[in-house]
Amino acid sequence: MIHFDNSYARLPQGFFARINPTPVPEPALMALNEKLAERLGLDATWLRSPDGIAMLAGNSLPEGAEPIAQAYAGHQFGGFVPQLGDGRAVLLGEVVAPDGARFDLQLKGSGKTPFSRMGDGRAWLGPVLREYIVSEFMAAMDIPTTRALAAVTTGETVWREDGLPGAVLTRVASSHIRVGTFQYFAVRGNESALSALTDHVIKRHYPQVSGPLELLDQVVGRQAETIAKWMALGFIHGVMNTDNMAISGETIDYGPCAFMDIYHPNTVFSSIDQMGRYAWANQPQIAVWNLAQLATCLIPLMGDRDKAIEAATQSVHRFAPLYQDAWLREFGAKLGLADPEEKDRELAERLLTIMARQKADFTRVFHGLSDNSARDEFTEPAAFDEWVSGWRSCRPDPDLMARANPARIPRNHRIEQAIAAAVASDRAPFETLCDAVTHPRETRSEWDAFALPPKPDEAVRQTFCG
Ligand code: AMP
Ligand code: MG
Ligand code: MG
Repeated sequence: MIHFDNSYARLPQGFFARINPTPVPEPALMALNEKLAERLGLDATWLRSPDGIAMLAGNSLPEGAEPIAQAYAGHQFGGFVPQLGDGRAVLLGEVVAPDGARFDLQLKGSGKTPFSRMGDGRAWLGPVLREYIVSEFMAAMDIPTTRALAAVTTGETVWREDGLPGAVLTRVASSHIRVGTFQYFAVRGNESALSALTDHVIKRHYPQVSGPLELLDQVVGRQAETIAKWMALGFIHGVMNTDNMAISGETIDYGPCAFMDIYHPNTVFSSIDQMGRYAWANQPQIAVWNLAQLATCLIPLMGDRDKAIEAATQSVHRFAPLYQDAWLREFGAKLGLADPEEKDRELAERLLTIMARQKADFTRVFHGLSDNSARDEFTEPAAFDEWVSGWRSCRPDPDLMARANPARIPRNHRIEQAIAAAVASDRAPFETLCDAVTHPRETRSEWDAFALPPKPDEAVRQTFCG
């Protein structure tokens, strides 16, 4: 039995629509994250049973669940949409783990909701497996993130450009409240709802703070940390719309996300990001832009308007120094420097410049610093050699580097291979890839191939929302 306590469903009516998942014809378990189940205090044996699978597919409701689709708005690529909301997901309820931590249990791909607009409410296996793999890798690298508890196939065909196997992901998050949740009420001028949402968020995520301004400060700080960590892994979120930025600071909505193979700051993968708005190097600026939208929502709750605007602006401006500090700490760690100083920022930046010029592989260079195999990633190693001699004199700490630099990442071509195999009913490649990237710091010979860059004909240049 799952103990649910559904605090979000107790909020006022306009926050959500009550809706049950739509049953599917043939639920089958594709993947179950037993470690996460244990963390949540859920019984993995039960989750694997027909009753458990029926729940994970949305075919039966566990006792105590109160399924809802959450309302939210959002800026999509800078254009405001006053109503988005969960169009293909339902929040089953909140689970309180044995240690008291609260988590949302959400089914993604669970059928139409009042927020579906033209969509079918479904997901196909590809994006479900992509999110499973990438979010679990992020968790293994200690990046704040939503998690994947399970993936089930539905036996239903989902129509995209082709007919594809349908699937449902069970997503776990400390909450699914987004910048766009605040925007939903702000644009409607609904101050009492904004106030209720603020109180809810403070109680749930930031119990130490005393009001909207301090809440904003906290979200700015969490996002600065999260984005710096993305940068240090070469991660490109791909759709940093305000509805895809979580108030908790967790990475959310793994759509067209991808990790760079070859390093270049302007790298973009998402097929719909034609202007490069969400390119790797733009992510911190976009975070500030999104946080400014959150600030705008909170100003009406902050008393005297002129003072509120001034205070909120300053709060958002704190992102830059916080992010710079976090960036230096993250990239310092990648270089084995525990207490990096300003001069080390320049050291890291110089390496990145050489990497960009010589089209070096982001992950292989940093990981290869530990055994000097990084040199092989450069076509003209002279510039790198000179850099290395300067770096060595800083006495890098090998343990710190081993923690910060994964041996392997979920590379796009590997994810695509795993998806293609799973569509053809072979789930072994997915399982092996998952295993390899959720132990990113361990070495095992059978995982060596996952550290290799794509061959020219394997390289993935575009990713899709799904
Ligand atoms: P995203 O691009 O994933 O952030 O989604 C943007 C909006 O589109 C959200 O409101 C989603 O719920 C909705 N959406 C995405 N895919 C579907 C779908 N297949 N059916 C219904 N709504 C969808
Ligand atoms: Mg989204
Ligand atoms: Mg999405």
